[in-house]
Amino acid sequence: MKPVDLRSDTVTQPTAGMRAAMAAAPLGDDVFGDDPSVNALQEKIAGMLGFEAALFVPTGTQSNLCGVLAHCQRGDEYIVGQMQHCYRWEGGGAAVFGSVQPQPLEHQADGTLALKDIEAAIKPDDPHFARTRLLALENTLGGAVLPQAYLEQATALARSKGLATHLDGARLFNAAVAQAAGGDARSEARRIARNFDSVSVCFSKGLGAPVGSALCGSKDLIIRARRIRKMAGGAMRQSGVLAAAADYALAHHVDRLAEDHALARRLAEGLAGIAGLQVEAPQTNILFVDLVGPARERSAQLLPFLKEQGVLATGLYRLRFATHLDVDAAGIDRAVTAIRAFFKA
Ligand SMILES: *Cc1c(COP(=O)(O)O)cnc(C)c1O
Repeated sequence: MKPVDLRSDTVTQPTAGMRAAMAAAPLGDDVFGDDPSVNALQEKIAGMLGFEAALFVPTGTQSNLCGVLAHCQRGDEYIVGQMQHCYRWEGGGAAVFGSVQPQPLEHQADGTLALKDIEAAIKPDDPHFARTRLLALENTLGGAVLPQAYLEQATALARSKGLATHLDGARLFNAAVAQAAGGDARSEARRIARNFDSVSVCFSKGLGAPVGSALCGSKDLIIRARRIRKMAGGAMRQSGVLAAAADYALAHHVDRLAEDHALARRLAEGLAGIAGLQVEAPQTNILFVDLVGPARERSAQLLPFLKEQGVLATGLYRLRFATHLDVDAAGIDRAVTAIRAFFKA
């Protein structure tokens, strides 16, 4: 039996419809700027999120790198949360490739960066200090949706201090679907995005495309980002075959993210009440479960046991389960049964 793979929402396989769209995509050479499928995708995502332009890139990591380096010069710094992907999980790329220094801040319990911490981190114009240039936020952050009012306040603060703003919206559409609560997710995505000078979106997470992200921003920013993408080795050729998958995902896989959120809640409900497990309430498609007390002593055996039962997850003392379009209710129930069996609950 195929395992229920809850390790990440990146593990999805392209659907038959997506593969057909890829096979049928008209192609050119994107380095010459004449791949019609790439150009159409870039126009579509920019328009959807209310930006002048967009750039299709191979990964979310490269999208954030192009974004930070398009905003910042050597000796500049960006304010960022300790747990954000573009600080913690990208090999320090902005510092390595761009000589841009991060100024990481601790998160509040809801994932936000306190406004007073942001303000205190902005350095005066003085040769002792790096030039604080950019505020980077992430939404969703570990599956948590940053409140809309907070996004407005934090970005207004940044603007008032002359900083640019970047959103790592790898899972922007998860945030938008949760925030829309059954309403129009596209307009919520735009409402989130309009606070920022640039937004990065992943097509290869819950949206289900095999590869690809987009960086959205002004025409000038995207011209600078295009040069950085070239230097980073991310200028591709007949990449319309990939853009077509992303385009298909935007048309067919946005609203269905609500199903992933419902499955994460189903998993949380199924695990409620097991002694030794502290189950967080998932806001979107990611569920965290902490092992507490004596359960921690058996933590190293849990994932191998689950794997034998055909259930894949990540973590040790803090387990992470991500739902996505290749998971269904039967799979979630298999995961619940396996975890209950392990804890004899
Ligand atoms: C996954 C992810 C990225 C980029 O990941 P890639 O594997 O490089 O595509 C960036 N930001 C966040 C928040 C992510 O979850």
